[in-house]
Amino acid sequence: MKKLHTKIFSKVPPEYKAEFLRDIYSEDLFTLTIVTFILFITLIVVFLLFNIELFRVYTVIVCMIIFNLIFLPMIRFTYKKTPWLSIMSIRSIQFAYLILMISLSCAVSLLSQDLTASINIYTIAVFSVASLICMHPIESISIYLLVYAAFYVILPHYQMNLQAVTILRINAFLMNLMAWFVGQMLYQMRIKAFIDKKIIEETNKTLKELSIRDAMTTLYHHEYLCSLLRESINGSRRFQHTVSIIMIDIDNFKAVNDTYGHLAGDQIIIGISKILVDTCRTVDIIGRYGGDEFMIIAPDTNLEGAMLLAERIRVNVETADYYKEIRVTVSIGVSEFNSENWEELIKNADDQLYIAKQSGKNKVNVQTL
Ligand code: GH3
Ligand code: MG
Repeated sequence: MKKLHTKIFSKVPPEYKAEFLRDIYSEDLFTLTIVTFILFITLIVVFLLFNIELFRVYTVIVCMIIFNLIFLPMIRFTYKKTPWLSIMSIRSIQFAYLILMISLSCAVSLLSQDLTASINIYTIAVFSVASLICMHPIESISIYLLVYAAFYVILPHYQMNLQAVTILRINAFLMNLMAWFVGQMLYQMRIKAFIDKKIIEETNKTLKELSIRDAMTTLYHHEYLCSLLRESINGSRRFQHTVSIIMIDIDNFKAVNDTYGHLAGDQIIIGISKILVDTCRTVDIIGRYGGDEFMIIAPDTNLEGAMLLAERIRVNVETADYYKEIRVTVSIGVSEFNSENWEELIKNADDQLYIAKQSGKNKVNVQTL
């Protein structure tokens, strides 16, 4: 598992980048829609309460808001319903949309220069974008600079007072710079929150794995194995599928421990676990039932198929090298689900295992239906 860290300036790991961008774009569009709606209501109240002289300015703003209220849910819907839409396309849509919005606000500020020597609308738009939309530092600085360059060049055509031009240019520059810093601080916070979320997800995954697996062999442990068997049986009942189980016990394992020591014994248990994993199909569920006993749940496998698998396991265990010159064998009991409950099914396989032990060990014994 790749390690995730949070640093002062964090970067989203490349494998999570697409997920991160999709998450933040979708969240941002939602927030923006809500904020736009609130703004819309506020403006209507303002219109109703005050006799506004700047009617032409506010008409443009209301048009922009209505456009947003239609367009924002549409692009959010597109992002959600088209998972194939590349992140590059989403970023381009986002980029084009923001350029359009800031340019329009800038244009509104320019057009109203004959009424007031201020850039309030432009400022509101740039700070709204900075605080509501997360953007990569390069992307955001490009948008701000592009619009600012246009503003810088066009301003003297609408504002005749040269001193006001200079002040507005300086104000707009400082405002863009501040907005960029605010935006970047929020962007960093979002990255950190995303990385923290991923760390928690990965830790939970690891903890879950630890809680269902046997530490020595990494196979499923007894309780989880039994719960999986219960689930398999329920599935078999519902969908009329067959399922078989295989119980495996190492022969004369006490003697191995006594002769070579427990560490050697442990190596054999680990070696046999690997053989089981290598011999079974990926759909088979393999667990350490306890001590030197293992259990395999073989879905969609009848008694005959389970017997063939068991025989392959027996041969592989017998012929494998483990530790020094130690050779071990296993005895195996096999049973197929036949409408009994899960405990009875295990008991049936255990009975077959017992018979295999009694009849000389290193054998596969199958329940006769
Ligand atoms: P049988 O052929 O009848 O199965 O004889 P056996 O000697 O294998 O007897 P049994 O299965 O009853 O004994 C299991 C032994 O496995 C007892 C215990 O000391 C040993 N054992 C259980 N878990 C571990 C383990 O994690 N490591 C080691 N080294 N030994 C273990
Ligand atoms: Mg044994």
